[in-house]
Amino acid sequence: MLGDDAPWRRGDLLGATGLAGVGLAGLALTWFGASGRADWPDQLPWASVGAAATTVALLGLVTWLVAGLRRVRRLRREVLPLVAAAASLSRNAGAAGAAAGSVLVSAPGMTRFHRPACPLAAGKPVQPVPTPEAGGAGLVPCKVCAA
Ligand SMILES: [Zn+2]
Repeated sequence: MLGDDAPWRRGDLLGATGLAGVGLAGLALTWFGASGRADWPDQLPWASVGAAATTVALLGLVTWLVAGLRRVRRLRREVLPLVAAAASLSRNAGAAGAAAGSVLVSAPGMTRFHRPACPLAAGKPVQPVPTPEAGGAGLVPCKVCAA
């Protein structure tokens, strides 16, 4: 169900669906317990059960999100030094950088401008962007290629 590249593991899925399932079961129990009781004082204990069940279900969803965010953060820490090293190699290779001069590039949807040889710009539909315009368009320099 979860691919190898998914940021979650089977344990994350089981924990999140378990908590969400317990929460939904609690809400169903609340529904059946409170239905047929016309007076608020009779419904109040069931409303408390419903609030607790909602909290448990939300806890399941939050644990799911936090597990994914932690794994993405860990992968980013592992990958970014490799990307920076690749950018350094391509800068040191020199040919592309010298030919490109001071031209910087960016693509629609990007928030940063890059050197043409930057691995983060590779394979994307980049267009040359003069530096003053890049700054004026709200683009910021890439931290990987130090554009
Ligand atoms: Zn870059």
